[in-house]
Amino acid sequence: MLNRNVETFLGCETEYSDARIVLFGAPFDSTTSYRPGTRFASRTMRAESYGLETYSPYLDLDMEDARVFDGGDLELCFGDTEKALGDIESFTREILADSKLPLLIGGEHLVTLGALRAMVENYPELCILHLDAHTDLREEYLGARLSHASVMKRAWELVGDDRIWQFGIRSGTREEFYWAEKHTHLHKFGFQGLEAALAALRDRPVYFTIDLDVLDPSVFPGTGTPEAGGVTFDALRQVVDRVSRLQIVGADLVELSPHYDASGASTAVALKVLRELLLGLERPYLQKSENV
Ligand code: MN
Ligand code: MN
Repeated sequence: MLNRNVETFLGCETEYSDARIVLFGAPFDSTTSYRPGTRFASRTMRAESYGLETYSPYLDLDMEDARVFDGGDLELCFGDTEKALGDIESFTREILADSKLPLLIGGEHLVTLGALRAMVENYPELCILHLDAHTDLREEYLGARLSHASVMKRAWELVGDDRIWQFGIRSGTREEFYWAEKHTHLHKFGFQGLEAALAALRDRPVYFTIDLDVLDPSVFPGTGTPEAGGVTFDALRQVVDRVSRLQIVGADLVELSPHYDASGASTAVALKVLRELLLGLERPYLQKSENV
């Protein structure tokens, strides 16, 4: 018998009612300042995910056993940023109301703000763990307060001082770096200081936002604003492994712009990061494959 042609991310075949994690795409890139294209990330990742095994040899866990529902892509209004953020916010709120964990695929980094607006309602004590090449702390960019370059500043307005931990940061204005000294925990260049952050975040609700341009452009050229001096895939994978053991209540993966990497390698990297993140989050509920 033939099945209906419904494409989902690799191994995400669980029905909504049984799922613990809800994956969805927010294909929005209207405020992208340099090279647009992140709106194509989620659909490209779905299509390319068939090149990736469901089994993770790193974690000895399999996506076949994970309870992840793929909710597809939101239809977002490219001409109206507030409207698009509002749609992301209400979808996230719906997922939280059903006691599930939202996992958003961008899109540009601004989509995170839509999710965060719903997250802080549910978790007033929310902390944010932010991996990125860029500070994203501008007050405004090109006259717009709602921009991928200001998303963490808008996030700070929601959660306040000492609630945001930033890693991998190697680009931003002098003002942003100085401002961060007083208001966020900003760690330059790599993951030095992660242990202390993990200790501080233990038992607190954490939103985990991964701007994939934290990776070095040699590993991950498929992004709008590549920034030299980034981390390796394996360094990121290890951080995802550690962070996914925290009390993660929501997460996202943003800024893959597949068409800037004709080889498709960046999409493959993003997919593997996503698989490791999903399996890391599902780890407490999954069995190791002892009976194989
Ligand atoms: Mn960013
Ligand atoms: Mn960035």
